[in-house]
Amino acid sequence: MVISGLQKTTLLDYPGHVAATLFLGRCNFRCPFCHNSDLLDGDSSDPFTEESVLSFLKKRSGILQGVCITGGEPTLHPDLEEFIVKIRALGLKVKLDTNGYRPQVLKKLCSQGLIDYAAMDIKSGQSGYSRAAGRDGLDLSRIEESVSFLLEGTVPCEFRTTVVKGIHEEKDFREIGPWLSGAASYFLQSYKDSENVLVPGFSAFGKEELLHFAEIVSPYVPSVSLRGIDY
Ligand code: SF4
Repeated sequence: MVISGLQKTTLLDYPGHVAATLFLGRCNFRCPFCHNSDLLDGDSSDPFTEESVLSFLKKRSGILQGVCITGGEPTLHPDLEEFIVKIRALGLKVKLDTNGYRPQVLKKLCSQGLIDYAAMDIKSGQSGYSRAAGRDGLDLSRIEESVSFLLEGTVPCEFRTTVVKGIHEEKDFREIGPWLSGAASYFLQSYKDSENVLVPGFSAFGKEELLHFAEIVSPYVPSVSLRGIDY
């Protein structure tokens, strides 16, 4: 396991927990609005070894409550399961961020009780998914399989969409609402421009527009919230 980035402490990435965040390089999507573009090919100028990260987590296990594993796309790593077992052996909970394109990996990890909380990206409504994920020929059934699995409630989870002007429009949220019917929570995350974005030139929606999109999803999901915007 090569870890491309480590955030030593976060109060934001794992809801309700003091956590560290591990960034695993490589991704099977190329979302044009991705702000981790330097991680997508798995390259890292200053990678962390598994041993050094586990040693750090062990030292901090009295302070940390959990570890957020994000990417890139963590489920691409064949040794992810083994790595999570080692993290859990330190008494830390694990949150997994995923784009849901490897449902078999997600199902296996959750069914084995290795994941305490899952956060799945919903890149767009179904009709615009391929464009939002930056992937021609995307097999939407794989995303749908992950959504259906998480909706079964095997693990606590959230769904979230980074909302981008130039990618999303109202119809996406009219599709997302019924799709996520039965989910406990859904977050609309405001797009933030950065120098690392894969395709520059996008912008964020205003608060009123985001609230409008939230209202569209609200009849289907009991908790719909905005992130990354001041109320
Ligand atoms: S935003 Fe898209 S391209 Fe970037 S890491 Fe996430 S799934 Fe991969």
